[in-house]
Amino acid sequence: MNKIQEIDRVLPGKPLSVIEEFESGKNTFVFDGEVRSSVIGKPVVNMVNRILNVTQRNPPMIPKIGDIVTGYIDMLFGNMISVRVVYINDKNSHSGFSAIASTRISNMGNNYYSSWRERNYKGKLIFKVGDIIRGRVYSLLNSSIHITLEDKDLGLVYTICFSCGNTDLIKVSGGLKCPNCGNYEERKVCIDYGKEAFTSLYDKQYLMG
Ligand SMILES: [Zn+2]
Repeated sequence: MNKIQEIDRVLPGKPLSVIEEFESGKNTFVFDGEVRSSVIGKPVVNMVNRILNVTQRNPPMIPKIGDIVTGYIDMLFGNMISVRVVYINDKNSHSGFSAIASTRISNMGNNYYSSWRERNYKGKLIFKVGDIIRGRVYSLLNSSIHITLEDKDLGLVYTICFSCGNTDLIKVSGGLKCPNCGNYEERKVCIDYGKEAFTSLYDKQYLMG
C-alpha cells in the first residue's frame, strides 16, 4: 500500500490504504477500516497531513439547474423535443446527452408569454429537426435534463429555410422570413438569433454522432 502515488487510475470502491496510514480526503470514503475511492481518478497523497485524496479524471460535465444549454434538435415526439446538447454555459460538451423540452407554452402569468400566446402560437411552439436551440435547465427529474425555452434569450438561435435552404433568414414578428423564396417559418426565436457561432453549429451537427 505504499505505492499509491504510482497508481494512475482507480475505480470507485477500490481500497487504497488503511486508515492508520492515511486519512480519508477528497473523493474518498472509509469502509471496513480502509480508505477507498468514490470516483474514477488518480490517488494523490498529502504526506504532510497524511491525507489521501483522489483527483477525479475528466469529470463528466453534467448540467445543473439554471445552466444554459445549446444544441440541435435531434427528435420531435408529441409535445416534446429532444435537443442534443453541444454547449453547457458556452463550454463545449462532448458527453453526447440530450435535453428535453416541452413545446407547450405554460401559463406562467408572464407578460412576455401572454403576448406570444395572443399572437399566432395557439399554445404550442413549432420546431423542426436540425434547429439550433438554447434552453435553461429547470429540472433533472428521472435522470433527464429538462429545459425551458420560455424567456427572451431562449428558443431558436439558428435554422435554415426549409423551402429553399437559404441560410440567411430574417427575424420578423413571430418567426423568420426567407428573403429568397418568401417562406415564413413560425418559431420562438431568441433575441440574439443568427450569431455566427450557431451558424457553424448547424453545419457541424451532421458530422456529429
Ligand atoms: Zn427560402
